[in-house]
Amino acid sequence: MNSTFEIKSINDLFILLIDLDKGKSVTNDARRVVGVLRKIIPGGIGSRKIYYKDSYGRFDQINVKDGKFCGFSPCTKSQQSKIAELPASGDCLACGEYDEFFINGLCRECDENHGSLIL
Ligand SMILES: [Zn+2]
Repeated sequence: MNSTFEIKSINDLFILLIDLDKGKSVTNDARRVVGVLRKIIPGGIGSRKIYYKDSYGRFDQINVKDGKFCGFSPCTKSQQSKIAELPASGDCLACGEYDEFFINGLCRECDENHGSLIL
């Protein structure tokens, strides 16, 4: 079974994922996760950093080169606490508008209109 994850925030700088701990872990499914992101983000991943919270509550970085998974980097102690404080907000994957009420990659309006993304 594939991993299940939520997009907590996305902007021009980074993407933050939460492993929902169903099926495979994001760690063990990182190659596919990167492929999914490449498909659903308008214009692709680009130079954004990808962080994710694993099922133990730790943040790590998924490294991407030329749009493809190429390993992990552990987040430092200060990154751990900074990333944990990030709000769920970002640029909607459907309409592109920034919203501070972000629901799994969608702004509130798109979430209400289209329903949640299944990832
Ligand atoms: Zn939207």
